[in-house]
Amino acid sequence: MPLDLVLRDARVAGSEDRTVDIGIRDGRIATIGPDLAIDGPERQIGGRLVVPGFVETHIHLDKSCILDRCIIGLGTGQGAGEGTLAEAVAQTAAAKRLFTEEDIYARACRTLDKALVQGTTRMRTHVEIDPRIHLKGFNAIRRVKKDYAWAIDIEICVFPQEGLLNDPGCEELLVEACENGADLIGGCPYTDTDPDGHVGRIFLLARRFDLDVDFHLDFDLDPSWMRLDEVMRQTERFGWGGRVAVGHATKLSAIDSRALAAIGRRLAEVGVAVTVIPATDLFLMGRDHDHNVPRGVTPAHRLIQHGVTCSLATNNVLNPFTPFGDCSLIRMANLYANVAQVGGMAEIASCLDLVTTAAAKLMNLTDYGIAVGNPADIVVLDCTTARAAVAELAGPLLGFKRGTATFSRPGAMIHRPSGPR
Ligand SMILES: [Zn+2]
Repeated sequence: MPLDLVLRDARVAGSEDRTVDIGIRDGRIATIGPDLAIDGPERQIGGRLVVPGFVETHIHLDKSCILDRCIIGLGTGQGAGEGTLAEAVAQTAAAKRLFTEEDIYARACRTLDKALVQGTTRMRTHVEIDPRIHLKGFNAIRRVKKDYAWAIDIEICVFPQEGLLNDPGCEELLVEACENGADLIGGCPYTDTDPDGHVGRIFLLARRFDLDVDFHLDFDLDPSWMRLDEVMRQTERFGWGGRVAVGHATKLSAIDSRALAAIGRRLAEVGVAVTVIPATDLFLMGRDHDHNVPRGVTPAHRLIQHGVTCSLATNNVLNPFTPFGDCSLIRMANLYANVAQVGGMAEIASCLDLVTTAAAKLMNLTDYGIAVGNPADIVVLDCTTARAAVAELAGPLLGFKRGTATFSRPGAMIHRPSGPR
């Protein structure tokens, strides 16, 4: 039977020493092998690297692209003022009061268009729920999820950014979202007047609706205490191992390797995964330092050595938490490798896992990967090895979602002068 599409001469990340052909039928990978004698429309990949698309484990579509209005809102005209976490939370909360569903939808689409052309095919987006924004963000992102299903699989993590137990009416709205299509539930205990109580309530809701959990947590550099302890306790209490992730955990960048190993082993044992967010953590951490500013980026590659599931993620795009962003997860892997002083050939290559296979594991995706039977989510990078992808920021050239092309961008062309020089 003919195939719908055959990609010829591709290198699959992880087995890059040979090229293979990939046959696609009905949106799925039907066959993989060298020099396959199969019929169907062909695309020549030219020996380039292919990945199953990038996996964005932590992004905020609802509050992306608001930097301009935050500056106007503050009236400073100077940009993101102090650059502290407290300021970012306050500025965003103020801007959020003027959000409409259409506005959130439009900004989310703008951000998704960026993610799409950077090769992202799977995504977990956090969405804020509280009595001020009500379900506007949730409803907008639900529409976005449906309207972009042709290109990106999106899961929605609803969470109370401004606290839960200190915010009457918030839990009822979270429940309403959980009853109406939220894919998982998140928490943000650092903004709550009762942080441990916040963690406990989120676990109760997770159990009630059978949802995975993803917390924003330990987002400072004081290692003398960690909310992570409470999350691990509750994960065990609820039997939720393997279904819990935490984002940031920057405190883990402020402890020595022996302490990190002990916590890493415990995280692995309990089944709590960690998402490191290099751009935001670099921007917001260490603001009390005048010089010799700490990096504040948790060493994911070292936690992995202790068995922890880790990923790297974008988090925020063009807002007070991160006034940068192109949604490139390759850039995030490169930034992380540079900041975390990852220099060995294999180690640099392994940073690609943190935005592909390891990230998919964190999200408990069971159908991810370039393998027969999986959806034909395939992104071609302008390189031939995983190491080069990370080290040289290889550009995504062409992407497919379930076997259908979703974007293409030509590689750079050099116009050398002709004739004698
Ligand atoms: Zn976040």
